[in-house]
Amino acid sequence: MVEPILTIVVPCYNEEDVLSETVNQLNEVLNNLIEEKLIAGQSKILFVDDGSKDKTWSIIYKESLKNNRVHGLKLARNVGHQNALLAGLVAGKTSSDCVVSIDADLQDDVNVIREFILKFKEGFDIVYGVRGKRDTDHVLKRTTAEAFYTMMQKLDVNLIYNHADYRLMSKRAIGELEKFEEVNLFLRGIVPLIGFPSTSVYYDRKERFAGETKYPLKKMLSFAFEGITSFSVTPIRFVLLVGFLSFFTSLLFGSYFITLKFIGETETGWTSLITSIWLIGGLQLISIGLIGEYIGKIYKESKRRPKYIVDIDTYNLTQQLTERDVYVDSIGQNRRELL
Ligand code: UDP
Ligand code: MG
Repeated sequence: MVEPILTIVVPCYNEEDVLSETVNQLNEVLNNLIEEKLIAGQSKILFVDDGSKDKTWSIIYKESLKNNRVHGLKLARNVGHQNALLAGLVAGKTSSDCVVSIDADLQDDVNVIREFILKFKEGFDIVYGVRGKRDTDHVLKRTTAEAFYTMMQKLDVNLIYNHADYRLMSKRAIGELEKFEEVNLFLRGIVPLIGFPSTSVYYDRKERFAGETKYPLKKMLSFAFEGITSFSVTPIRFVLLVGFLSFFTSLLFGSYFITLKFIGETETGWTSLITSIWLIGGLQLISIGLIGEYIGKIYKESKRRPKYIVDIDTYNLTQQLTERDVYVDSIGQNRRELL
């Protein structure tokens, strides 16, 4: 029987502390799966270096020389987790039947990949890794993350609760994913939109093996905001609603004050005046800011900039190199050795 070729895609940004361990663990998983005849012998691990400033790329490159299952894709600069992941999926798709994406920090249980494969063989195109317990996450991270998922659900955005970017996708699912041309990439929101048969596998999230989180609070909040404004226009409708409410309230108050004036009981009125100025001013600023946010998105989308640029790719090196390719590659080789 022909077994599927699997590529495990790992986006890495300044991960020198964990990388060797990640290589070992993923390599072991891959070897076991190959031995079990669940996947084909050509299966690989693809590390995407998202413009790291530390030794991440040289570790990847050295590993790729030692182990022919390990490959690297070096992006020309840091483009963020989501874009780096997409780069890996698109590269991985070319020579595999399914791709699993996983973070470099070993927080997600690597043994679950086996279950992913079993589900894939049952015919599922997308298998989501869902965190059962998040005890090891910092309480702030856990509560903000859970609040985020709940809010997204309230806003009618179809997200898988407690699923991050640990998932399996089939070749054809990635093909469809590539057709989503948006620049403001939020994969967790887009993948469920594909609509192919999908299922979930549950696991417990562990602590980061080493190194620090690349998502401090500020980045996390902006990621959440990005997710909301990329997928939902409810906030903008909410502003409209608040606008209407404040308009009718001010009508009510207006008529109340006019009646008072006719009865002759007018107040000096400074307090109410100043509060309403601030209130309305604030509301207007919020509305303009929020609308600006959407316009900003339109602005970015309209430029259609490439989402990432590949510098070095040891994954899709052609098998039969022509003389010219060898020459071009020798320059690439020099460049790799510069690192
Ligand atoms: N990452 C990346 N580019 C970035 C930031 C992060 O490729 O600009 C990678 C990082 O190396 C890791 C994954 O994205 O493999 C998730 O990051 P992290 O574990 O720091 O996030 P957390 O688990 O704390 O949310
Ligand atoms: Mg992590």
